[in-house]
Amino acid sequence: MDPTNNYPRPPFERQSQPWPGLASKMSPRPDHGETSYKGSERLAGRKALITGGDSGMGRAAAIAYAREGADVAINYYPTEEADAQEVVGLITAEGRKAIALPGDLRDERFCQQLVQQAVEALGGLDIIVSNAARQQARQSILDVSSEDFDATMKTNIYAPFWIIKAALPHLKPGSAIIGTSSEQAYDPSPDLYDYAQTKAATMNYVKSLAKQLGPKGIRVNAVAPGPIWTPLQVSGGATMEKLEKFGGHTPLGRPGQPAELASIYVQLAAADASYANGQVYGASGGSGQP
Ligand code: NAD
Ligand code: MG
Repeated sequence: MDPTNNYPRPPFERQSQPWPGLASKMSPRPDHGETSYKGSERLAGRKALITGGDSGMGRAAAIAYAREGADVAINYYPTEEADAQEVVGLITAEGRKAIALPGDLRDERFCQQLVQQAVEALGGLDIIVSNAARQQARQSILDVSSEDFDATMKTNIYAPFWIIKAALPHLKPGSAIIGTSSEQAYDPSPDLYDYAQTKAATMNYVKSLAKQLGPKGIRVNAVAPGPIWTPLQVSGGATMEKLEKFGGHTPLGRPGQPAELASIYVQLAAADASYANGQVYGASGGSGQP
C-alpha cells in the first residue's frame, strides 16, 4: 500500500462547523478504522476511559481498543451525542462494554464524576487516554480573549490534571496513561499561540508523571500527531486557507487519518510495550518533531 495515495489528498473543499464539530458532517468523512481495524486480543480484559472518544484520534482508539478486547468508556461534549452513539454501536458490535459519559471537561467536579462513573460502570480502570482538546486559531495574540485562553487551558491542561488525580487511586501496576500531544509542542504555528503551549505542557506532564508513576508500575506516554483530518480542524482549529491545503506540505503530501494512529494508541497501552514509559510517539507524515 502506497502511503502517498491510500487516503484523500488536498485540495479539500472549504467547510466550517460550529464547535466542536461532527465527524459525520465532514467531507470527506474521516476514517477512524470503522471497517479496517483488526484486533488480536492485545488488550483483552482491559478497561479504558478515553476523552474525546466520539471522533478523531479518540474514536480511532476506542474502536481499536474494543477490537483488541477492552471495555471502553468515552467522554465527549454533550452536543456530540450523534458521533458518540456511532462509537457506542461499534464497540458493542464487538461484544464489549461501551459506556457513554457526556459532559464538559472544563469543570473539575465533572472530571471527578467522570472517573467515578467510568470506574463503577467498567468495574475498574487500567487505561486512560487523555485526548480531548480545544484548538481555535487566532491570527494575533490580540484576538485571544481571556475567556479563550482560559477555555484552552481548562480543557487541555486542567482536565488531564483533574482526571489523572481522580483516577490514580484506581490504577494498579500495569496500567497505562496516554496523552495526546502534537507536533505543535515542538514547532508552534503563529496562529495557535494558546493551543500550542498546552501541547508542550502535555509532553512535559507525560515525562514528569512517567518518572513519578514508573516506580508504581504505571506507564505514561504521549502520541504527537501532525495534521490529521478531524472535526477539530473544521470547527475553528484551522483557517479556510489552511484547510484547503491541509497536510499538503508533509512528505506524504496529505493529512493523516485517525485510523492511521489507532495502532499507536494500542501499542502504548499494551502490556508487551512494558518498557515504553515517558515516550512521545510522533505521527506526522514525515515533517515536524519528534
Ligand atoms: P476531535 O475534534 O475529533 O477531538 C477533540 C475532542 O475533544 C472532541 O471530540 C470533544 O469531544 C473533545 N472536547 C473538547 N472540548 C471539550 C470539553 N470542554 N468537554 C468535553 N470534551 C471536549 O479532534 P482530534 O484532532 O481527534 O483531537 C484529538 C487530540 O488530537 C487533541 O488532543 C488534539 O490536540 C490532538 N491533535 C490533533 C491534531 C490534528 O491535526 N487533528 C494534530 C495534533 C494533535
Ligand atoms: Mg468530536
